[in-house]
Amino acid sequence: MDFLETSDPADVRRRVAAQLRVIARADHCISRQFISPNALRVLYRLRDAGFNACLVGGAVRDLLLGNRPKDFDVATNATPEEVKALFRNCRLIGRRFRLAHVHYGEEIIEVSTFRGLGDDGSGDREVVDGRLTRDNVYGSIEEDAVRRDFTVNALYYAIEDFSVRDYVGGYDDVQRRQLRLIGDVERRFREDPVRALRAVRFAAKLGFSIADDVAAGIREYGPLIVDAPPARLFDEMLKLFLAGHALSGFREMERYGLFAVLFPESSQAIRKDPRGRALIEAALASTDARIALGRPVTPAFLFAALLWPAVEHRAALIAERGHGDPEGEASAQIVAEQAQRIALPKRFSLPMQEIWDLQPRFVTNQRKRVQRLLAHPRFRAAYDFLLLRSSANLELVELAQRWDRAQHEGPDAVLSGQPMPEKAAAVDAPAKKKRRRRRRKPGEAAGAVAPE
Ligand code: ATP
Ligand code: MG
Repeated sequence: MDFLETSDPADVRRRVAAQLRVIARADHCISRQFISPNALRVLYRLRDAGFNACLVGGAVRDLLLGNRPKDFDVATNATPEEVKALFRNCRLIGRRFRLAHVHYGEEIIEVSTFRGLGDDGSGDREVVDGRLTRDNVYGSIEEDAVRRDFTVNALYYAIEDFSVRDYVGGYDDVQRRQLRLIGDVERRFREDPVRALRAVRFAAKLGFSIADDVAAGIREYGPLIVDAPPARLFDEMLKLFLAGHALSGFREMERYGLFAVLFPESSQAIRKDPRGRALIEAALASTDARIALGRPVTPAFLFAALLWPAVEHRAALIAERGHGDPEGEASAQIVAEQAQRIALPKRFSLPMQEIWDLQPRFVTNQRKRVQRLLAHPRFRAAYDFLLLRSSANLELVELAQRWDRAQHEGPDAVLSGQPMPEKAAAVDAPAKKKRRRRRRKPGEAAGAVAPE
């Protein structure tokens, strides 16, 4: 049933309330000892002030699965202003989606007021082409539940009796490990196409299956994500690729055609040349391994790998035209074009481009250049990237080994042995045309170079 279709919120409230299933404390596994003490503080204070307060969303889902939630979100019938009045450490954020953030050192408990369904004509809700772009219309818990995306994300843990409240069948879906959208699939994807990426992310992270109608919907409406704000897509990409399930996330994205939408040229390139896919998969597997060990990962390196097949592909096309500096031009063009889809902040796109631009410099017979490269501040990242390339391209293994030795034994390790393989030049595919590259002036932004 598509509750969101009806225009009468009172009717929705009645019908959704009639579906409520309460899972009592004795019948579920959520214990307060697994809930962040700060989230409990927020819940109790709201309750003591006479409001309804529930843990909601991913935290309830993850606790039911026996996983440790990444963060704890609270939903309440208190307005953001009422929440602010209760907590000194509270900040209101967002104009279009107003929320309260309660700060405890590093931890932020996000408190959202139940969103309603009706539009009172005040301008507090804004829908553009079926897309929800502003929403400060408040309502009841029943309305809030059916406005959420997946049934498993619409479970409420109520602090008043420690029960789990399920209005949309999410509890059974958690047990079945399945992702189902609440309401009509087409309508929910048109309203917010980014839900397609969220589906893929939850499938990868939780190992859930995607219900058939949702899977078909992702294929059909997923391409609408091209119109989503690039900054939001960047955030989604980080959630997908930096949460320990990057490799399965990438495979799910490919399976549902979303990789082709967000990374069109890389997608084309890896279909033609399996080495590109091998490079991306090796990068994502190593990202997952680092996260599992608690080691840092940088979006610059991640995006360097995701876009490298595109850079190579483009450089090959430029080289065919036979002029200019194929790798340099390709990298600048890909950075500029990709920015239209995913807003990669400069602090990541600049080092990413540096990692790319250093690759051709690994091929040299000159001692001075070896020394200079070893001393380059981005050497380590560029070398790691060369290693990654060599894991996908055997022709580069010897080169990577020389540079490995050079780090312990000095520059001669690069120069000894066979002369440099001409073929292992800048990019893996095209033959490199000799040309002196114009040195970048200090402060000149590489990422800002637009394609001619
Ligand atoms: P994670 O484990 O990644 O934090 P999550 O389910 O908590 O997963 P969030 O992005 O933190 O995801 O969102 C919190 C909750 O807000 C979701 O569980 C869902 O109920 C609701 N929500 C988030 N994004 C949307 C959306 N695009 N459409 C509808 N509801 C959403
Ligand atoms: Mg969350």
